[in-house]
Amino acid sequence: MPEYDSFCRQFSWENEKDSLEGLPGGGINIAHEAVDRHVNSGKGNTIAIRWIRKDRSFDDLTYADLKVQTSRFANVLEKLNVAKGESVFSLAGRIPSLYIAALGTLKAGAVFCPMFSVFGPEPAFQRLGKGKAKVLVTTTGLYEKKIKQLLDRLPLLQYILLTDAKQDIDDKVLSLSTLMKQASDDYVIKNTQQEDPALLHFTSGTTGMPKGALHVHQAVLTHYVTGKYVLDLRPGDVFWCTADPGWVTGTSYGIIAPLVNGVTNIVDEEEFDATRWYSILEEHYVNVWYTAPTAIRRLMRLDFKPTDRYDLSNLRLIHSVGEPLQADEVIWGEKTFGRPICDNWWQTETGGIMISNYATMEVRPGSMGKPLPGIEAAIGEVEAEAIRLLTKPGEPGHLLLKTGWPSMFRAYLDEEERYKKCFKGAWYITGDLAKKDADGYFWFVGRADDIIKTSGHMVGPFEVESTLMEHPAVAEAAIIGKPDPIIGALVKAFVVLDSGYEANEKTRLDIKGFSRKKLGPAVAPKEITFIDSLPKTKSGKILRRLLKARELGLPEGDTSTLE
Ligand code: ATP
Ligand code: MG
Repeated sequence: MPEYDSFCRQFSWENEKDSLEGLPGGGINIAHEAVDRHVNSGKGNTIAIRWIRKDRSFDDLTYADLKVQTSRFANVLEKLNVAKGESVFSLAGRIPSLYIAALGTLKAGAVFCPMFSVFGPEPAFQRLGKGKAKVLVTTTGLYEKKIKQLLDRLPLLQYILLTDAKQDIDDKVLSLSTLMKQASDDYVIKNTQQEDPALLHFTSGTTGMPKGALHVHQAVLTHYVTGKYVLDLRPGDVFWCTADPGWVTGTSYGIIAPLVNGVTNIVDEEEFDATRWYSILEEHYVNVWYTAPTAIRRLMRLDFKPTDRYDLSNLRLIHSVGEPLQADEVIWGEKTFGRPICDNWWQTETGGIMISNYATMEVRPGSMGKPLPGIEAAIGEVEAEAIRLLTKPGEPGHLLLKTGWPSMFRAYLDEEERYKKCFKGAWYITGDLAKKDADGYFWFVGRADDIIKTSGHMVGPFEVESTLMEHPAVAEAAIIGKPDPIIGALVKAFVVLDSGYEANEKTRLDIKGFSRKKLGPAVAPKEITFIDSLPKTKSGKILRRLLKARELGLPEGDTSTLE
């Protein structure tokens, strides 16, 4: 990205759209922009997806291969009478069929919904039911273990396509490879329009029951723009987003954004493993790496400097999303890789990155950065009648986005009222609280649901947790508000200790004293409990509501996304 301020002034979505091709009839289709467009313009031989198996051997799919495979998949759906707007789900690990199914579904004008393969039968049932799944792509093992038992309860689910079955099991449970072999390589992409539904993503369930956020084909413009200007994707780049497509990051940036930008996208079948990850960065010459704070924290705990063991000289840019990235984590990146880790903020609902640090802008450690060009973000109070914008630098309030960006969610499935409540006037209310400093940088305060009112103070978890983590004994921390008859709520901290520290009274007092000195007695935690690990979602977010429910002996609520 050129200089931020001047670029924002000249930016227009319309101009950016000119870089995309669109469909002959005036429509737009995500898969066309991500795959076929590149083949049509002579880039068919570029590697689109490099799939790394668990045993570290790998397979490449060029853009030309991907065009053929996704067209075949679209033809398979056609044969099964899947109509425009009907939904196709997946329950699979990070295997090529998942990526082919996602893009093939989009070609066919159907709606794709990826699920985490680790979901048990109940969470899978909830999502398949809510999303009215007509087709499910999965493996034989996952089908036997999790889906078979649900079939009676899912009358709308007509076909299950097994990626690894050699033969059909019955009329409903079919061999995907057989169908793919029979299908033609040619497919005329459905003439999807800007507002046609394309993707269904369930939120992480951090604050409650996961919500189904619906996105449209026009979202591809955000994927393109953020891939280009935030992730700085350039021709010839190798890009790796470590997220699973079951989480929105793993689809928007693990599938669409890199392909729309024509680069090589790394897909690793295996879960987090520090040395494996560094080896992948080295062996596959990764230029741009997109990961999450939980992974960064785990890497930080290793007792060696990665650049002493691995050649990471190709790595140009590192980004992080999902949870607040602490200042010391940004600085660790600088010391370790010679470049800060760039934090960015967005949600399932926004479909793409909305606020970010950029390679060409001064990174302020601990800040989420500045709005994407074309995005207007503000801080405000949500009042009964209207939004009141807060313009004084540093004043905390609701983080708001001006509506109308291409990847804005268009519905919460079956929850129209809830959807409507997210908007007031021209603003979308994100549900997060933040501050904006005098230079226009945004700073995360906490989720509106997690804010603690204690003795008349409003305490944001982020501030307290990051202070606790500055103490050498603290590896991770989460705070909750524990109801208290006198002060409203008491700030309670759950702390995971770093190795070498003992969970005893001395450590507790030490951390308490430290946080009192830094935060003042009103905000510092009054209670500290040591815990082996914090409950997190599968995408690495701390489930504070679960800590609170356990503390108060209340029902745990939805735990489908619990790691
Ligand atoms: P649910 O809405 O079901 O409670 P969720 O909000 O965690 O789950 P996601 O859409 O996956 O589901 O996560 C988006 C949220 O993650 C944001 O609203 C914000 O609270 C948090 N988040 C994401 N990126 C950042 C970041 N860079 N800094 C701070 N918080 C972040
Ligand atoms: Mg949310």
